[in-house]
Amino acid sequence: MAAEYEAVIGLEVHVELKTKSKIFCGCTTEFGGEPNTHVCPVCLGLPGVLPVLNKKVVDYAIKAGLALNCQIASFSKFDRKNYYYPDLPKNFQTSQYDLPIAEHGFLDIEVDGVEKRIGITRIHMEEDAGKLMHSGETIVSSTSSLVDYNRTGVPLIEIVSEPDMRSAEEARAYLEKLKAIIEYTEVSDCKMEEGSLRCDANISVRPKGTEKFGTKVEIKNMNSFRALQRAVEYEIERQIDLNEDGGKVIQETRSWDDTKGVTVSMRSKEEANDYRYFPEPDLVPLVIDKEWVDSIKETMPELPDARKKRLVEEIGLSSYDASVITSSKDLAEFFDRTMEHYQDAKIVANWLMGELLRLLNAKGQTIKESPITPQALAELLILQDKGTISGKIAKQVFEEMFNTGQSAENIVKEKGLVQISDEGAIGAIVEKVIANNPQSVEDFKNGKKQAIGFLVGQVMKETKGKANPALVNKLLNEKLQNI
Ligand SMILES: [Zn+2]
Repeated sequence: MAAEYEAVIGLEVHVELKTKSKIFCGCTTEFGGEPNTHVCPVCLGLPGVLPVLNKKVVDYAIKAGLALNCQIASFSKFDRKNYYYPDLPKNFQTSQYDLPIAEHGFLDIEVDGVEKRIGITRIHMEEDAGKLMHSGETIVSSTSSLVDYNRTGVPLIEIVSEPDMRSAEEARAYLEKLKAIIEYTEVSDCKMEEGSLRCDANISVRPKGTEKFGTKVEIKNMNSFRALQRAVEYEIERQIDLNEDGGKVIQETRSWDDTKGVTVSMRSKEEANDYRYFPEPDLVPLVIDKEWVDSIKETMPELPDARKKRLVEEIGLSSYDASVITSSKDLAEFFDRTMEHYQDAKIVANWLMGELLRLLNAKGQTIKESPITPQALAELLILQDKGTISGKIAKQVFEEMFNTGQSAENIVKEKGLVQISDEGAIGAIVEKVIANNPQSVEDFKNGKKQAIGFLVGQVMKETKGKANPALVNKLLNEKLQNI
């Protein structure tokens, strides 16, 4: 029955900006620290203090806006969003309401080879709130909670998409692309595990072919791509089931429970806050002239789509490989730097996407923490090309390089892994293998050509993978013809 419905999904993404100081005071934005040590009267909202806008925050917001193809507002202002919550010392959050800094942008995603443009409604600047630390596992099971205001006043941009996504895969692709673009601009470190990038989703379902939106539910609390995809999948199914069973979706905010794999009701629309926005009286409106925007444009790096295009058109990578390589700025840079020392793009891409990412993932490390440098990888590939080591041994050496940080040359020398390319030496082993495996030889003679694969394998085993494979094949074929 699910095929009769379609989902309508929009995402709201909060990105913490990587400025050194907070949005309205000089306190550090550094993550962590002893609770309530990165604070001052301004970010604590003590009486009589005045905020001073950090220009870098505006620079970064403009940069993100341009990277997401938005129009930058020439006139923008801050507003007070009024609500009470213990993590908000001023009882209002300074945000932007009707005149955000950027609007009408877009980004392009690709799902199953199909490209799609997702609209970006707006980007606005605001301050982050503090953090509650509960004594128990959850807020409900806690007997007390403490407040840490270190994060209060850390600059954020909120990026609001159009409700253009129709599946959990599209939502995930959007968030992945958004993160990559923001990473390239370097306005945020985008560390999801530290809360620098947080995502809420608005989800509704409607009968396929209809225009009217269904009742939308907001899901909060998703801190990974996987969590977002699972939460959206779950919520779509939940809403379809409700419709099918004659129930009614109510407008509410739900949270994602990653352990149980379900969304749980937090509050319904009736209890939701009326924020009573009004213009922030302590800050002057923001006038942004063309020169300011142009000066930011000059600092714009090559973005993922442009970089992907370059890798496909100039270097000849496949579209898929180029997508993977450019999906992370650090990976793309590692690729470029390897190419400075070794020019076969396809081989470099294969090693990065295969061995390097595999070992990094297994250790939970990022590409920046890679013990193997681009130059060290290039040296390994050159040893392989020269025939000093076989492809099989190269993988073994790579792993050793990863674990010890040693150079390929040292490892090859120390472990005696130099490829055997001596015809006499390999020939002797080939003869031994032929003598020991009469059945395979007979199979080969009877036309079972694949029997040679087994014999090659035996030679490699005898030489611990060090025999030159091309030579093994050549000698085996020659000797088998003569039997
Ligand atoms: Zn402060």
